[in-house]
Amino acid sequence: MPEPWYNAGRWVLASCRRDYDRNVTSQRPAPYKLGIVGAGQIARMTHQAAVKLGITPRLLAEEHDDAAALAAPHAVFSHPDALSAFADTCEIITFEHERIDLGLLERLEDDGMVLRPGIKTIRVAFDKMHQRRVLLNRGLPVPPFTEVRGPDDILDFASVYGWPMVIKSVRAGAPGERGAWIVESESEALKVLSEQGNRQLMVEGFQAIVKELVVLVVRRPSGSARCYPITEVIHADGVCKEIRAPASIGHRVATEARELALRLADDFDAVGVLAVELFLTTDGLVINELAARPHNAGHITIEGTPTSQFENHVRAILDLPLGPTWATAPAIVTMNVIGGFDRIDPTDHLAEALTVEGVQVHLYGKQPWPGRKLGHVTAMGDDLEQARDLARRAEAALNGRRAW
Ligand code: ADP
Repeated sequence: MPEPWYNAGRWVLASCRRDYDRNVTSQRPAPYKLGIVGAGQIARMTHQAAVKLGITPRLLAEEHDDAAALAAPHAVFSHPDALSAFADTCEIITFEHERIDLGLLERLEDDGMVLRPGIKTIRVAFDKMHQRRVLLNRGLPVPPFTEVRGPDDILDFASVYGWPMVIKSVRAGAPGERGAWIVESESEALKVLSEQGNRQLMVEGFQAIVKELVVLVVRRPSGSARCYPITEVIHADGVCKEIRAPASIGHRVATEARELALRLADDFDAVGVLAVELFLTTDGLVINELAARPHNAGHITIEGTPTSQFENHVRAILDLPLGPTWATAPAIVTMNVIGGFDRIDPTDHLAEALTVEGVQVHLYGKQPWPGRKLGHVTAMGDDLEQARDLARRAEAALNGRRAW
């Protein structure tokens, strides 16, 4: 019985690339040897979308119980050469997170590996400080910012921009690890600095946010690109709780946001999904962050558009035709299912949640920890209130609360 190409973990660990190549060509003429670096819920949903198209990606997981690793053939690596070895088994690799050494990715691309997105996009997306500088140099709207090398940088910044300010980690942390701190005073800032002293930090001016928006663009290597309906994200305690589409913004702001996102995707040669996080402030749109991968705010696209962000990401990185991205309902609401201190496992309450008819339940198979994203629910309706009500009931049920 021949082994499928993706089941290559043992070959990789033995560094038997040739064996692997020979097996691949003799067994599997399919052209799509796709690898996903990361195995959280974003990779899980990307994997599911690829499987729908007849493609079974390999995953570079960190832990055996990563959300995607639970649902897919995978390999778990922990040694430093893991990524290079993994890349040897793939023709194209894509990323679900930013915790990857940039130098290593540069070397891979120099060696001919197809990274999607490519290194030009990755450099901008993986390093918030570099991202801010590049955007500023292009005259685009970003909050004022500076690098933090020590307390003096924070105090100098405060003397110009005042308090509060926002301290951020330049590089992404581990899943669930906080990356932004709004600080009101010198003592709060110095506390963050001492607690996060081992991370590269930056500080930026606090923005008077009216709404937080996310524009998802999906782009093929040829440059053809599509935007999804703009979403509005609602945070509580620093965690994204709710995603709504369409965002309740005017036509002018929506057009500006879409044009900005499309321009950024072109400027950075994005391939796949580029998520553009925006603050709508009293002074207009400000760019918060670019993420070059499917994004949490795009969960609404699974049921709320004809082609989910995950499927279109797969299509784009394989240079296949993109699918339509319009909204299929007047209102779509996703609520995240976040673990509480009671450590309730939403799977125990699946039956109750499924009685809320019309709601789509997605659980990621994760152990329930406080603050951890365990799943999400999506509801559609004729208006936002109707969709919110359905989603809220299902989310409450999954968290063991009775909401009707
Ligand atoms: P992370 O990527 O770690 O989630 P973000 O940069 O997205 O970090 O910041 C998390 C949240 O903090 C944002 O969604 C927003 O609510 C708030 N925030 C971030 N930057 C600012 C800012 N400059 N001014 C005001 N609030 C901010």
